[in-house]
Amino acid sequence: MDTPRPPALPDRIGGLTELAYNLWWSWSPEARELLRALDLQAYRESGHNPVLMLRMVEPRTLARAAQDPAFLGRYDEVMARFKEETEPSSLAFPSHPGPIPGPVAYFSAEFGVHVSLPVYAGGLGILAGDTLKEASDLRLPLVGVGLIYSHGYVRQRINADGWQEETHEPLDASSYPIRPARDAAGRPLVVVVPAFDPPVHVGVWQAQVGRVPLYLLTTDLEQNQPWDRAISQHLYTGDLEGRLRQEIVLGLGGMVALRSLGIDPGAVHLNEGHPAFAALERLGSSVSRGASWADALAAVRKSTLFTTHTPLHAGTDVFPYPLIERYLLPYLDRAGLPRDAFLALGLDPANPGAGFNMTAFAIRVSQTTNAVSARHAEVARGIWSGVRFDDHPVPIRGITNGIHLRTWIEPLRIQKLFDRYLGPEWRERPDDPEVWARVDRIPDEELWRVHEERKAALAAEVDSRARRRWGEGTASAARIITAGPFLDPRILTLGFARRFTAYKRPTLLMHDPERLRRLLTDPLRPVQIVFAGKAHPADHDGKRLIQEVYRLALDPRFAGRIAFVEEYDQHLAKYLVAGVDVWLNTPLPPLEASGTSGMKASVNGVPVLSVLDGWWPEGYTGDNGWAFGGEEIAGDRTAADAAALYRILEEAVVPLFYDRGPDEIPHGFVRVMKQAIKTVAPRFSARRMMREYGEVYLSALGLA
Ligand SMILES: *Cc1c(COP(=O)(O)O)cnc(C)c1O
Repeated sequence: MDTPRPPALPDRIGGLTELAYNLWWSWSPEARELLRALDLQAYRESGHNPVLMLRMVEPRTLARAAQDPAFLGRYDEVMARFKEETEPSSLAFPSHPGPIPGPVAYFSAEFGVHVSLPVYAGGLGILAGDTLKEASDLRLPLVGVGLIYSHGYVRQRINADGWQEETHEPLDASSYPIRPARDAAGRPLVVVVPAFDPPVHVGVWQAQVGRVPLYLLTTDLEQNQPWDRAISQHLYTGDLEGRLRQEIVLGLGGMVALRSLGIDPGAVHLNEGHPAFAALERLGSSVSRGASWADALAAVRKSTLFTTHTPLHAGTDVFPYPLIERYLLPYLDRAGLPRDAFLALGLDPANPGAGFNMTAFAIRVSQTTNAVSARHAEVARGIWSGVRFDDHPVPIRGITNGIHLRTWIEPLRIQKLFDRYLGPEWRERPDDPEVWARVDRIPDEELWRVHEERKAALAAEVDSRARRRWGEGTASAARIITAGPFLDPRILTLGFARRFTAYKRPTLLMHDPERLRRLLTDPLRPVQIVFAGKAHPADHDGKRLIQEVYRLALDPRFAGRIAFVEEYDQHLAKYLVAGVDVWLNTPLPPLEASGTSGMKASVNGVPVLSVLDGWWPEGYTGDNGWAFGGEEIAGDRTAADAAALYRILEEAVVPLFYDRGPDEIPHGFVRVMKQAIKTVAPRFSARRMMREYGEVYLSALGLA
């Protein structure tokens, strides 16, 4: 692990280095503008990564900025706010200002904080990132623990056949906003995971998310054998053994790393089952220090909470017993943990022979299990009701996901609009419905103009991506035609962006191609659709769905009104959720645990058209978007859902969008946009979510 060398900055603006290494800048519009003002081209060329950017800026540009009174005025303002919003001196619970036994350690296999730190695949990671940001804003005492994937980030290319090809982008640690975590003596920290023989060394990087440190572990170190180096190379390794080794490093290794950093967590929050071996380490430490198994288990259970994200029984990690025995028995024996009692914690009564179930284990070692929406809580109770502890059923509650508003509301125009009409309170009290009621003060015309600008910005971004791709010389002309060059910002635009996998049903809208064609190519009221999303490299069905979209996008009957944009990531997501008119969501119920992209769209004034699944049954009010598919249907519901979807588009969305007064503004549609913002922003903010988790944290810390 090499230490990145900070660039030589003039002293007067030397604080930019600290700013670059704290991802706080990414949700501060003023900090973003400061970086853009320093060198817009370098900001863009660096992929919005200030660490890299500061290395690209020419010394004379830096020298000029250090003498420019206008720049320095902004710099001083940003640095003052940076200090105020990141100084860690007063971390505590708002409702409990006293001392706490130790921070909450939030473990997750992915963290999607910002594109410049690509250690995430999808929604789970984005939620973890939003959780850290909101914990920082709320001053909750939290530390994050995850993995950094040295070959991990998958870039997506669609070839001339419409087939997804992946390239793995190797990690260039020196250009990420991370620095080695250091031990007491100031050396880069390396710890040994106790379960492996020969020992596996783990290096620890630290990212800073506002007030919250995020520790990212890697086994890709010279001290390790090649096979062990590979443990943390890829996110969600396909083979079970690799997966188990990875989860041992994340959970067990993560706890060991925290202790070596002098951090003794007062509670542990497991985001999904992957990091659940953190509880194993805590049991082991406690028993090796002399506690009985029963006492150790009781103490760990009291201070652990678990969030389950998948409504699919098959979606959890189950490790065959021989693998578990090979990797964990030596550790259990050394720590003095009883084998059978430990194995029983991972037993899934619905499938007892299958192996050690990480979700069952996480449920049993936790005081509280949370699902991610009310609907999901019901489904999860159904699936996991057999998992009992001491013969008691384990309660599963819903804490519905929320999004970090300062990250997801488009900063250049829409945040400014909110600043003007809602006042600074929307940043300070993002979960207060009274603040959001002020959205009605925004004149229709102004909201509509801003929205049209965001649509134009999306079209420009899509064009520039297509042009870049064409310029690389490897894409066929046909491929470029599917990349969206014909998008027209004036016409009704639907957005569909998410992981391409069968249950999300990305092709539901294509169920009746002729009906779709009529919808898209109507001469007076045309519609266009922008698709984006990756399939998991091993998910062939998902790749086939991309191919299906690609074929229709290429088909002249649809007149270029279907686009598939490559490389869906957080950056593209920000363009999409603010730059389309309606956000489509068509998963097969009840398989969407929550979903968050529709929340992101709604708060930017892009209403959702969604199946009543995940968060939408809680979010839909009748006038803030459109809903279908709420009824139970036995058997294949594709045709019924597709018909409902077409009907809403034809009879509600299209007429409303094209109903223009003499001022050319669709006032009826704007009313839905405003309702979407007003109703979704407060209730589905990460602030509301983290207040709810905060109560659970207090109880886990023994303070409630
Ligand atoms: C928000 C987001 C997701 C999750 O969206 P869902 O609605 O849960 O599918 C996935 N990927 C990216 C890049 C996102 O920004």
